[in-house]
Amino acid sequence: MEITLALIKPHVLRNTYAMQQIRALISQNFTVLDQKEVCITKELSERFYAEHKGKFFYHRLTSFMNSGPCYALILQSEACIQKWRSLLGPTKVFRAVYSDPNCIRALYGLSDTRNACHGSDSEASALREISILFPEFDAAVGSRQAKRKT
Ligand code: GDP
Repeated sequence: MEITLALIKPHVLRNTYAMQQIRALISQNFTVLDQKEVCITKELSERFYAEHKGKFFYHRLTSFMNSGPCYALILQSEACIQKWRSLLGPTKVFRAVYSDPNCIRALYGLSDTRNACHGSDSEASALREISILFPEFDAAVGSRQAKRKT
């Protein structure tokens, strides 16, 4: 079993219909180990997206993530990282609309920055990102609890 961080960006959290649809997808595909609304400060956002520092979209992205509350979830399933990322679709919304019109980013993304949701891209990223947004979460304990539930 794998875990990943799913992060729903501010414009989607304000869209009740989008949230219902995304929650339904999540409950059909994953066990949710933890979830919460989270206000990502500029500092936290810069830490979260540190690997993109220096890129042309870095300031735009970190400011956007700080523009309103986000919704963060720790998801668990077999091949969870890839599964959530394929539900998201391509990073760039224009590409998502053409190549995968039913994916989350095609349906609810507005631009490359406001591309609806985030998903960790590796096990190491998942653990790093979860520790930033859920500092109290213990990955070992979390997965033991989830195993007991199934
Ligand atoms: P992800 O793993 O699919 O989220 O993509 P990346 O890790 O490469 O990028 C992180 C975030 O940076 C993405 O979710 C986008 O919001 C943003 N981003 C990436 N590439 C671009 C770009 O070319 N333009 C803009 N405006 N934002 C981008």
